[in-house]
Amino acid sequence: PDSPHPFWQIIRVVPDFPKPGIAFYDITPLLRAHVNAVIDALLAAIPQPVFDAVDCFGAIEARGFIFASLLAGRTGKGMVLVRKEGKLPPPVANKSYALEYGSDTLEMQAGLVPANVLLVDDILATGGTLSAAVGLCEAAGHQVLGALVLLDLVDLHQPLDMPLYTVLQAKG
Ligand code: IMP
Repeated sequence: PDSPHPFWQIIRVVPDFPKPGIAFYDITPLLRAHVNAVIDALLAAIPQPVFDAVDCFGAIEARGFIFASLLAGRTGKGMVLVRKEGKLPPPVANKSYALEYGSDTLEMQAGLVPANVLLVDDILATGGTLSAAVGLCEAAGHQVLGALVLLDLVDLHQPLDMPLYTVLQAKG
């Protein structure tokens, strides 16, 4: 088998956080010394024709903001924000969804120029966040080209109904 990706030496897996039985993957130590390598790896995970079609990175609050900002800065492409409820002024599209732990509501500004969006987040767990973000993009008139995540917890979700680009995979 392939040797583990070097990022695994820096990611912490914290048992029983934020609830008993949940293994929390802490990717924030990667930001300290390896953030450029993370952006390189994310960019390398996007097939060229998809990259060429992207107008905007769809940044999912909060750690998706970090990656999408750096990707936009690196590439000259734009960003659209998928935010927690109550942060964006109207008009907004709004969607509630179940999380791996709890539930949440996301919003996205409506009435912007339609764009081809590649959604960006740090970790894919149940897929609830991404599917809410897809619904929001569509409600806001955007086209979703797929999703880009650093770490896919493959056993926690069903196959997505959109292309998924990832750097790391774990059983969850
Ligand atoms: P999902 O909606 O269940 O796919 O959860 C994905 C969202 O929850 C992402 O925005 C992640 O940032 C966050 N998340 C889920 N599991 C973890 C974890 O193990 N570590 C850090 N964030 C997580």
